[in-house]
Amino acid sequence: MKVLVATEKPFAAVAVEGIKKEIEGAGNELVLLEKYTDVAQLLDAVKDADAMIVRSDKVTPAVLDAAKNLKIVVRAGAGYDSIDTAYAKEKGVIVENTPGQNSNAVAELVFGLMVYAVRNFYNGKAGTELMGKKLGILAFGNVGRNVARVAKGFGMDVYAYDAFCPKEVIEEAGVKAVDSQEELFKNCDVVSLHIPATPETKQSINYNLVNMMKKGGMVVNTARKEVINEPELIKLMEERTDLKYITDIKPDADEEFAKFEGRYFSTPKKMGAQTAEANINAGIAAAKQINAYFKDGCTKFQVNK
Ligand code: NAD
Repeated sequence: MKVLVATEKPFAAVAVEGIKKEIEGAGNELVLLEKYTDVAQLLDAVKDADAMIVRSDKVTPAVLDAAKNLKIVVRAGAGYDSIDTAYAKEKGVIVENTPGQNSNAVAELVFGLMVYAVRNFYNGKAGTELMGKKLGILAFGNVGRNVARVAKGFGMDVYAYDAFCPKEVIEEAGVKAVDSQEELFKNCDVVSLHIPATPETKQSINYNLVNMMKKGGMVVNTARKEVINEPELIKLMEERTDLKYITDIKPDADEEFAKFEGRYFSTPKKMGAQTAEANINAGIAAAKQINAYFKDGCTKFQVNK
């Protein structure tokens, strides 16, 4: 079977080596399309692919229509909002992600961003510490759980809300479970976002919600830019000069946010999963999932059932 690795932003070389070893070791063929600059290159490369491994690459109806032999697409990573899962289902193409493989990488970045922000972006002036502060984790999935683990090491007082994860699971992890996202924003000094971008969550981080935060509140976003209502957050940050917004996903309104000097920071490019370890973990997991599908029909990680 022909397995295409299509990555506009390539995997680390060591991850590509690992993927190649897995795919070829199972008797399949690996084809690489890295750093493509035009969607036409992708449309051409998928023509005869039986399987595809992607990162943040957009798998649109046009890509799925061009891929006549495609049976499975694996997103090496957690969020799969870049893939048209419904259209893939219509076409009988299985879509999978590789949950949990990059969650430690994202969780560590959350703390890099938090320390940077509370120390005033290293401008030489006295900042504050994280110890004893209330951290709210919005969504207790793979990343949220890792954030909770690290937060305890910092001596933070950790709270979480998840719409689908039972409260007992949160409490068992030594974290205080709250009943709503509103309660999380009201209670916590810092709220770290780990919700996926879904119809329910898109633009859900809005004026009213963030305005519930105490003086000096900070929102850290390593989830998706789509979950933020950007015009409303800008309006609120104009009115409340105590609030900070720190993100790993550059907002569409980056230039407008940039006027909040000392209260806004965005990584220049999404950095959450950008570690050699996460690249290797997610890439190899994707390769193994494809091999398992071709060998035994295994669809354990399918997200478009
Ligand atoms: P996950 O699937 O393990 O966890 C998501 C959690 O969100 C689940 O526990 C689910 O119950 C909860 N949830 C879903 N809808 C909710 C809602 N409306 N309100 C509250 N909770 C809700 O995913 P993960 O691995 O923890 O990743 C979380 C998100 O982080 C991903 O969807 C992705 O968008 C983003 N992410 C970003 C990077 C990055 O590079 N910055 C890397 C990995 C993941």
